[in-house]
Amino acid sequence: MKKISILIPTYNEQDILKALYHRLDKLANDNKSYSFEFLFINDGSRDKTLDIIKDLAQTDDRVSYVNFSRNFGKEVAMVAGFDHVTGDATVIIDADLQDPPELIPQMIKYWEEGYDDIYAKRNSRKGETWFKKASSQWFYKILQKTTNIPIQIDTGDFRLLDRRCIEALKQIRESQRYTKGMFSWIGYKKKEITYDRDPRTAGVSKWNYVKLFNFAIDGITSFTTAPLRISSILGFIISFVAFVFIIVIVVKTILYGDPALGYPSMMAAILFLGGVQLLSLGVIGEYIGRIYNETKNRPLYLIEEYHHGKATKKTR
Ligand code: UDP
Ligand code: MG
Repeated sequence: MKKISILIPTYNEQDILKALYHRLDKLANDNKSYSFEFLFINDGSRDKTLDIIKDLAQTDDRVSYVNFSRNFGKEVAMVAGFDHVTGDATVIIDADLQDPPELIPQMIKYWEEGYDDIYAKRNSRKGETWFKKASSQWFYKILQKTTNIPIQIDTGDFRLLDRRCIEALKQIRESQRYTKGMFSWIGYKKKEITYDRDPRTAGVSKWNYVKLFNFAIDGITSFTTAPLRISSILGFIISFVAFVFIIVIVVKTILYGDPALGYPSMMAAILFLGGVQLLSLGVIGEYIGRIYNETKNRPLYLIEEYHHGKATKKTR
């Protein structure tokens, strides 16, 4: 019998876990020809999330969990999931039921037809503000224009991945992760299915605009060095303009003398060049910061406890 692992990154989701478990339980009961594993990654939740998962694991062998030593973020929770799933295929799903588990049988169907990565694309984004929708569109546009790998628009992490995709993803160990881009980067046979995304059923989204902005910068810097190129080009154009301008000034001074005017144009040039230099330094700094972080070569996450089926392993 083939095994499907359901990978669920969870952070402070106490209000919804029971409901999620019932939906997953129903899914497993409706698809008896497969065995299932529900792998929860508890990402350092500060509420009763871990207790609830432990309760579920007591009564249900299908429930496994990895308990992080602290909150490492969803991107890292997913890689811990890749490291610990045991199924022939893995479905990544949010704990907040925004990704309907009812879509999974359709994913499994395509998987059986030979697709490796079946991802769910959102038709609508109910319960999201105009600004969130618009900003995510701009972001996808910019990312798509600057990278040479195709980025899937309006697609989250909700997808089914074949074992070989998981093995590929496990090899990507960079610490500032942008998993959405990695799904494209690994390639393999992809299939798109569409659905309507529901608003969160309970609890609150852990994203705010500052976090989203940081995530966007991570996305761009981890998949393209185009901003470095843009700052070089900008630098080149501005140097050229400045050079022409200098010649004009010199010639003018020789022909007409210097009546010590030109203070405004001088200030404008200084301020403008200063701004461009700071911007370029910032861009370079972004990349150097990433190099610094990667060279530290730290483990991506630390596990407090791993429970698989009926066996629990505590780390000391
Ligand atoms: N999540 C996590 N670690 C975090 C933040 C979120 O594991 O630091 C999980 C969260 O429990 C949920 C999923 O990632 O299962 C998506 O989070 P959220 O619903 O807050 O994001 P959104 O749907 O708003 O993009
Ligand atoms: Mg959500």
